[in-house]
Amino acid sequence: MKYVVCPPCGTVFKGETEQDVISTTQQHAKEKHDFVPPRDEILSAMTSTPPQSGANTQN
Ligand SMILES: [Zn+2]
Repeated sequence: MKYVVCPPCGTVFKGETEQDVISTTQQHAKEKHDFVPPRDEILSAMTSTPPQSGANTQN
């Protein structure tokens, strides 16, 4: 699983593959923020673990 946090709004996107997350993130950013982040930028922000907001510890 891959995860990306949308910088402007903090929404977390996840997908099975990098391309999956990139497509979802670009579509969201285009609709909500009126820009399309470049693939490289999304890749550099991508993580393999779920981003934690705050100090919550789960699992
Ligand atoms: Zn956003």
